[in-house]
Amino acid sequence: MTAPVAGGTGRRVVVTGGAGFIGSHLCERLLERGDAVVCFDDFSTGRLENVDGLRDRPGFELHQVDVSAGMDVEGAVDAVAHLACPASPPRYLERPLETLQVCSEGTRRALDLADACGARFLLASTSEVYGDPEEHPQREAYWGHVNPVGPRSVYDEGKRFAESMSMAWRRSRGTDVGIVRIFNTYGPRLQPDDGRVVSNFLIQALHGEPLTVYGDGSQTRSLCYVDDLVDGLVRMLDADHAGPVNLGNPDEYTVLELAEVVIELTASSSSIEHRPLPEDDPGRRRPDIALAGEVLGWKPMTPLSEGLRRTAEYLAAVT
Ligand code: UDP
Repeated sequence: MTAPVAGGTGRRVVVTGGAGFIGSHLCERLLERGDAVVCFDDFSTGRLENVDGLRDRPGFELHQVDVSAGMDVEGAVDAVAHLACPASPPRYLERPLETLQVCSEGTRRALDLADACGARFLLASTSEVYGDPEEHPQREAYWGHVNPVGPRSVYDEGKRFAESMSMAWRRSRGTDVGIVRIFNTYGPRLQPDDGRVVSNFLIQALHGEPLTVYGDGSQTRSLCYVDDLVDGLVRMLDADHAGPVNLGNPDEYTVLELAEVVIELTASSSSIEHRPLPEDDPGRRRPDIALAGEVLGWKPMTPLSEGLRRTAEYLAAVT
C-alpha cells in the first residue's frame, strides 16, 4: 500500500493508463500537489519511460496490470481516474478488441473499485463521441454523429458505452461519477510513432521529410496543450459535477494550416505531401468550453506556438 505523502494532502488517487501520454502528466501533477498515486498500466501503449522519473517519488506506486482483467488496491482510495485506453487512431485500429474491452470491462472494473471505496470516479471520454459532427462547435448537449460499424467505432462507440455505463452507475448505485470529453491534446511524451498529427508533423519537419497531410487538409482540429488539459482533469477530479464536460482548446486550425505553422516554427525545409484521408475521419472539431468555464473555472492558457515549441524540444531529444 502507498504510504501517505509526508506533508501531503492525505488523498490517494488511482490512475488507470497512468503510464500513457496524458496519464503520466496527471500522475505527475497529483504527486506534485501531495496526493499519493496508484498507477495501473499494461504498457500496451503506455511507456515505462513516461513514469521513470516518478518511481522514486514518495507516494507513487506502479503496477503492470491490464485493467480489463481486474485490479487490486489495498487501503483507502479517494478517486479513480480512468484513462486506460489506446487513444491514437493507428493504435486503437491495431487493437480493436482490446479497445472495446478496456472501454467496457475495464470501465466496469474501475467503476466497481470507485464504488467499493466510496471514491470519485473520473471517466476520460473523448470528443470522438461526437463522431463527424453536424453541429459546430460541439456542445455537451450534442448527441453526435457516429458510424456504429466503421473501423473507428471501436473507440467512438467504446467511449460512448463507457459514458453510458458511468451514468448508469451514478443513477443506480450513487457512484460519484464525473465525465470529461477530451479533445485533441498534444505535448511532451507524445510518442514519436504515435501516428497523431502533431507528433507526425513535428518529427517530419525536424527530419526534413515531407509532412503527410491526409486528404486535402481542410479538416479542422483544435489542439490543447497537455498541461492545460491536466489542469482541467484535476479540477474535475476535485469537483462533484457529473458532466460530461468538454476539455479542449477552442482555437481551430485546418490540418493544412497546422502543417504550415509547424514548418515555420521549426524553420524546416520540408514540403507537404497529400495522402488518402482515413475512413470516417471527422471533418471539423472544435469544443464549446462554456460549461468547463462555468463549473470548473477552467480555460486553456498555452498558445499553440509555445506548446508546439515544447513538444518539438521533447521529440527532438527522443528521436
Ligand atoms: N492527419 C494528417 N496527417 C498525419 C496524421 C493525421 O493529416 O500524419 C490528420 C487526420 O487525418 C485527422 C487530423 O490530422 O484529420 C487529426 O488526426 P489525429 O490522428 O491526430 O487525431 P484524430 O482527431 O483523428 O483522433
